[in-house]
Amino acid sequence: MTAQANLGTRLDPWYDHYAARAAGLSASEVRALFAVASRPEVVSLAGGMPFVAGLPNTVVSASLERVMTEHGPQALQYGSGQGVPELREHITRVMAAEGITASPDDVVVTTGSQQALDLVTKLFIDPGDVILAEAPSYVGAIGIFRSYQAKISHVAMDAHGLIPAALEERIVELMAAGETLKFLYTIPNFHNPAGVTLTTDRRVEILEICRRHSILVLEDNPYGMLAFDEPAPPALRSLDDGVIYLGSFSKTLAPGFRIGWALAPHAIREKLILANESAILCPSSFSQFVISDYLDNTDWLTQINTFRGIYHSRKNAMITALEDNLPSLSWTNPNGGFFVWLTLPEQLDSKAMLPRAVKELVAYTPGTAFYADGGGRQNIRLSFCYPTEESIALGIRRLTTVIRGELDL
Ligand code: PMP
Repeated sequence: MTAQANLGTRLDPWYDHYAARAAGLSASEVRALFAVASRPEVVSLAGGMPFVAGLPNTVVSASLERVMTEHGPQALQYGSGQGVPELREHITRVMAAEGITASPDDVVVTTGSQQALDLVTKLFIDPGDVILAEAPSYVGAIGIFRSYQAKISHVAMDAHGLIPAALEERIVELMAAGETLKFLYTIPNFHNPAGVTLTTDRRVEILEICRRHSILVLEDNPYGMLAFDEPAPPALRSLDDGVIYLGSFSKTLAPGFRIGWALAPHAIREKLILANESAILCPSSFSQFVISDYLDNTDWLTQINTFRGIYHSRKNAMITALEDNLPSLSWTNPNGGFFVWLTLPEQLDSKAMLPRAVKELVAYTPGTAFYADGGGRQNIRLSFCYPTEESIALGIRRLTTVIRGELDL
């Protein structure tokens, strides 16, 4: 028995009883950070919390009141496992704003897109199956994939997103090694954590590669509507209706509602509804009615534009602070979303440096959180969504002190 296992048995009498899949459940580095980063004196560039104060309280309370007056009994009741029909109708209009044509019948409402990710993984993954994902990838997806005992194979990306030739090469390699490839998980727009966007040409190429090798594509698009200048390129789902598409109200409205959705090809949709019912019976009726009312009665596109403006200014503040303080380093300059991906000098280790940063009252997420294979030591994810422009500038100055200190400058 290893020292680790020994410790486990002493602290937890049920240690030997857990299912093998429980071994995949470990606190993410982001989660461990939240406690420290939430101290008021720390500038947190760590979590990806949307700036919910950008949404007027009065707008939400008006919706709450109307829902209770007009739909009280239904909003407080269990509902359909697929989701409230009115909301699914609205969701098709939201997706139309991103160029996707779909029927409300093919939408499954979930408890955030996080749960949609969990359901899709549950439906497709047996222990040992391979999921292809960008290098780096969303920490919350890696956690789910691990919990279903998937092997995660990271595929290289660059400033234009996932590299098609690298994907093709990896697929061929894994197939030759007798691995079972199940799906490609991709965040094509304003990537979390890399901040890059997949070009239109590459989208077409990647879909072609996946079709040719019979690999399902799982497109995760919570940030697509948060473009700063030009709108995001067409969704993969708008180019190929075999794609499973995940959307969310967490970044365009508020994450507290916990409402996201999956748009899936017919047969998969049926399985998703069954899996949803089995996991949660139904998504929150209350949240669904409130969001439906909000979409009915407010100019939601204008609200999204307000968020875009706020995030754009904050992104600019971060890029300016990086240019002023750390001109010799490199970073991505996103055209939307929440995140900048910073590359440190080779001799630094983002994970090892974190305690020193917290001592300097700045928090970030080490790149290692976004790799299943130990990569990312030379990277940092910086979030600009939540702190003010002044805090961002202060945070980057503090980070500069830390990096200079590590380099002994
Ligand atoms: N996918 C990505 C890429 C994310 O960044 C997030 C939230 N951080 C989610 C999915 C989950 O979002 P939610 O469950 O709030 O819809």
